[in-house]
Amino acid sequence: MPDPIVVQVVVDKPLSQGFDYLWDAKQLGALPQVGQIIEVPFGRGQEIAVVIKVSAHSDYQIDKIKYVDKVSPLPPLNLALLRLINFASQYYVHTLGETILPTIPQMWKKADSWKKNVDKINEARKKNPKAIGSQKEGFITAEQLNAEQKKALEALNNPSNSGTKFRTILLQGQTGSGKTAVFLNWISGILEEKDAQVLLLVPEINLTPQLERRVRAYFPDKIMAVLHSGVTEKKRGIAWYEAMTGKAQIILGTRLAALTPMPNLKAIVVDEEHDTSYKQQEGTRYSARDLAIWCAHDGQFPIVLSSATPSLETWIAAKAGRYEYIRLDQRAQGAKLPRVHLINTRDPRNQYSPGDQGAPKTKSLISKTLAQAISKNYQEQKQSLILINRRGYAPVLSCSSCNWLSKCSQCSSYMVMHKPGALGKRSVLNCHHCGLVKSIPQFCPDCGNADLKTLGQGTQKLEDSIEEMWPQARVLRVDADSSRKSKGAEELFQEIHDGNVDIVVGTQMIAKGHDYQNIGLVAVLDADARLYSADFRAAERLFAQLVQVAGRAGRAGAEGEDGGDIYIETQYPEAPVFQYLLRHDVDGFMAYIARERDEAKLPPFTYQGLVHAEAKSLEKAIGFLNELKARLKQHGMVPIDVYVYDPVPKTVMRVAGSERAQLVIESTNRKLLQEILENIDRDLRQQSQGRISKVSRIRWLVERDPIAI
Ligand code: ADP
Ligand code: ZN
Ligand code: ZN
Repeated sequence: MPDPIVVQVVVDKPLSQGFDYLWDAKQLGALPQVGQIIEVPFGRGQEIAVVIKVSAHSDYQIDKIKYVDKVSPLPPLNLALLRLINFASQYYVHTLGETILPTIPQMWKKADSWKKNVDKINEARKKNPKAIGSQKEGFITAEQLNAEQKKALEALNNPSNSGTKFRTILLQGQTGSGKTAVFLNWISGILEEKDAQVLLLVPEINLTPQLERRVRAYFPDKIMAVLHSGVTEKKRGIAWYEAMTGKAQIILGTRLAALTPMPNLKAIVVDEEHDTSYKQQEGTRYSARDLAIWCAHDGQFPIVLSSATPSLETWIAAKAGRYEYIRLDQRAQGAKLPRVHLINTRDPRNQYSPGDQGAPKTKSLISKTLAQAISKNYQEQKQSLILINRRGYAPVLSCSSCNWLSKCSQCSSYMVMHKPGALGKRSVLNCHHCGLVKSIPQFCPDCGNADLKTLGQGTQKLEDSIEEMWPQARVLRVDADSSRKSKGAEELFQEIHDGNVDIVVGTQMIAKGHDYQNIGLVAVLDADARLYSADFRAAERLFAQLVQVAGRAGRAGAEGEDGGDIYIETQYPEAPVFQYLLRHDVDGFMAYIARERDEAKLPPFTYQGLVHAEAKSLEKAIGFLNELKARLKQHGMVPIDVYVYDPVPKTVMRVAGSERAQLVIESTNRKLLQEILENIDRDLRQQSQGRISKVSRIRWLVERDPIAI
C-alpha cells in the first residue's frame, strides 16, 4: 500500500492547532501544495481551509482522518505571504487560521462558485485585456519634477548608502511638496522590470477616485488592482485574483491590501505612513505599515514611507540613520506655506459684543476675528473650509430645570441631536457609538419640563449659523450624514472642485487627500477638544491633522503665490502643538514629543500590550482582569522587566450594553513582552470557548502595540 498523503490545514477558528486530512490523489488530482485553498468537512458542516503542511504521516490514526472535499482552482497562496501571515499571527497573538482566512475575499469562500468565478474572470480578460485608461490627469514626468524632487528621485534610485536590496526610506515633505509625484515616478522605474509588482498602501479615507485616476494616469499600460473595504465584494475578489495570479502589477489599497498574495512584489510605498487607519482594530490587530516593512525585509526589496508628519517611531528611526531619510522642503509649485493664525477665544477683542455690526443673533462658535477673515476671503472669491469634528446638530440635549442630559441607555456617552433629513424625516437623537436612534422627547423624561435646550454645536448647527451670517454665500456641509444621502462624498467633493461652493462646513473627512485648487482659508473650531485627552498620543495626532488641514489651503498656488491662511480657535494658544505649527516646525515638534515620551518612558521608548475585556458589568470585566493579573504573579510569569498595570475602564466604558475594561502591560524588552502576551493568550484560551470565558462569559482579546490606550 502506498503512503497516504496527509495535509495539515488551518481554519478560521481560535484554535492554535492545524487539522489533518487525507488527500485522495485520484479524486483531487496532482499533489497538494502548501498555500492551497481547499474545502474540508469540519464538525457538522464544511469549512474553507488553507494547507500549511503536506506529509505522509499524521499524529492521529490514519483511518480516523477525513478526506479533503474540494480543491480550489486558485494558485496556492505564495510562500512569502504565508511567511508574512505566520509572523503576523505570532506577533499579534492570534491564531494562524484567524489571521489567514479573513484575508481571502468572500467571493473565494464558496467552493461551489470557484470554477465559475475563474472562468468568468478569464473570459473577461480575453475581451478586455487592459483594464487601465489612458488619461493624463495629474501626470508629472520625471523630467517635469523640480530640482528638489529630482534629487529625491535620484536618492530613491541610487542606494549609495546601503549595499542591500532591503531599504526603508522615509520621504518627508510638507503637503503639496510633491511626494506623490516623486514616488509614482520611482514606481514607474521599478515596473520596467517585466512582471514586477508594486504595492501602494494608502489610508482608508484617502483612497478616492481622484487618487485612483492619478495613479492610473502614470501607468496607462499596466493592470491595477484596487483593494479596500469600500469596493464591492465582487470587485475586491477580482482584484485579489489579479494580484495573486501576477496579472495586476500595481496593487493600490488600504491596510487589508498588505495581506494580498503578490508573488512578484518588488517594492512598497506606504503613503501617509503615520495614519492610524493602518492599524486593524478587530481580529488580528495588525499594523499594515509594520507588516509592510517586515515583508520588504523578508523579500529583500525597498519600501518608502511617505508623510508630512511622520509617526514618532519612523521619525526617530530616520534621525538615527536606521532608515534612509529623504526630504522635500518646498511646495512643488512654488506656493508659500499657509500662514497660521491662533485666535485666543478667551480674549474679548476676538469676540462679538452685543450690538456689534454683523454679530449673529444666536451665539456662534465663529469668533469675530474669524468671521472677518471669512468675509474677506469670500469677497476675494476664494473658498473657505470650516472644520469641526462633531457631526449632527448638537452633541447633547438638556433640561433647563433639572439638568437631565440625553444619555444613551446603552453606552456611557450622550445621544447627539440630528436635524430633520439626516436620519429620517424628523429630528432625532442618535448615539454615535451604538447607533441607537430615538425621537426627541417633548418633555423632560425626569421632571416633565417642556423647555429642553441643546448644548454645544455640531456641523448642522454650524451650517445654520453660517447661512445666517453669510446669507449670500453658497454653503455646503460635508460629513458622514450628508455624504450618506442622495449624493455620495465624491459628488460633494466635486462641487467644491467645480467652484459651486463658497463656504464648506465639515468634519475632517474633507481635510484629507483631496487636491482642491481654490481654498484661501481653513478654520479649525474644536482643536481644544482633542488637545487634552487621556491618550498620550493626542497631541501627536492633533498636530498631524492640523498640518494636513493647513495643507488644503493655497495648495495649487503658483510660484511665490499666496499660501492661504489657517485659523485655529483655541483657549490655549501657548500650547506647544500650536506654537510649533505656527512656525511650521515639524521636526521641532517631533523632537519635543520625543523628549516628552522619553522622560515619561512611553512608547516608542517602551513597548505595550493590552488585554481587552468586555462584560455585562464593569465590575465583572475588571474582576476578570484582576484575577488574570493575580494568576500571572502567582505563577511567577511576570519578569522584573515587565510591568503589569491595574485594570481600568476604557475611555468610552459602556458601548451597546457591554462594559469594557483593559489591562496595560509594558516592557522595554520586546521579547519579554511578547512572551507574556503569548502566555496570557494561552492561559485565557484554555478556559474559554473561542475568546469568551466559559465561566464568566467575558469576551477578551490580547493586543500587541495598541495605538489607543
Ligand atoms: P504631496 O504628495 O507632497 O502632497 P503632490 O505630489 O500631490 O504632493 O503634489 C502637489 C500638487 O503639485 C499636485 O497638484 C501635483 O500635481 C503638483 N505637482 C507636483 N510636482 C509638480 C511639479 N514638479 N511641477 C508642477 N506641479 C507639480
Ligand atoms: Zn428635567
Ligand atoms: Zn449608545
